[in-house]
Amino acid sequence: MKDLKLTSLNGEDNRRTVITVDNVKIGEDFVVIAGPCSVESEEQTIKTAQMVKEAGANMLRGGAFKPRTSPYAFQGLGLKGLKILEKAKKETGLPIVTEVLDPRDVSWVCEYADILQIGTRNMQNFSLLKEVGKVDKPVLLKRGMYSTLKEWLSCAEYILAEGNPNVILCERGIRTFETYTRNTLDLSIVPSVKEVSHLPIIVDPSHGTGRLSIIEPMSLAAMAAGADGILIEVHYNPCEALCDKDQAMSPEMFSILMRKLQSLHSWMNEINQVTGNMTTTH
Ligand code: PEP
Ligand code: MN
Repeated sequence: MKDLKLTSLNGEDNRRTVITVDNVKIGEDFVVIAGPCSVESEEQTIKTAQMVKEAGANMLRGGAFKPRTSPYAFQGLGLKGLKILEKAKKETGLPIVTEVLDPRDVSWVCEYADILQIGTRNMQNFSLLKEVGKVDKPVLLKRGMYSTLKEWLSCAEYILAEGNPNVILCERGIRTFETYTRNTLDLSIVPSVKEVSHLPIIVDPSHGTGRLSIIEPMSLAAMAAGADGILIEVHYNPCEALCDKDQAMSPEMFSILMRKLQSLHSWMNEINQVTGNMTTTH
């Protein structure tokens, strides 16, 4: 990983990046980003935001610009969607994570977003990476669905090289021969990132599995693997979701997941206190 001057964990000074957004510290707290795949209406977004907040989420996600496989699928509400997200933030206080698709939109999307998301399909869109590298908002950089760790970190390097140090990596599953799940969630990437980089890494088991029944175990596994947080798609009425409806959790499911995560978190803290000084031997 020789060319990774800025994203590598520095031997002598192995400080890890902590990114503060309002009262959330990414890289220190375990952060839960939840919300609908896409912003569909004011009612859908605000109701979902209130429900995920109630369950304990730290941030609201929602796409106003949707990168869809088909040009005929719902493409998002654009500026109208961003204004709905702004309203949802006013109502709930949750910071907003939203995707930007086009370098020409970066500066004005920044007026609404607390964190700019770069999706899997754009991980290597170098002009977009350079553009988000020039702004003062943190960037959630999803792993390209065909990318190696080195390729992914090189893309993060583009952003840091432009002057923006606040990059959060997000594992969202990669393409393999497996078809039962939508993607193959590569949780081994979490401790791998921790070994070589100081950047925080979160996990998206919603896109990573595409299957409702598998999102909960993989979220718990992400926490156990040392992730700094998770990103979960939640819709107040999943059967009506315009996008990714098969993987949208209901607020009730999400609330059960949150309780399990809280128990696992306390249990892990206890274990770490007892075994904190132990190292793994071969
Ligand atoms: C999303 O988070 O809504 C999304 C489109 O994700 P990905 O880029 O990982 O497919
Ligand atoms: Mn989605």
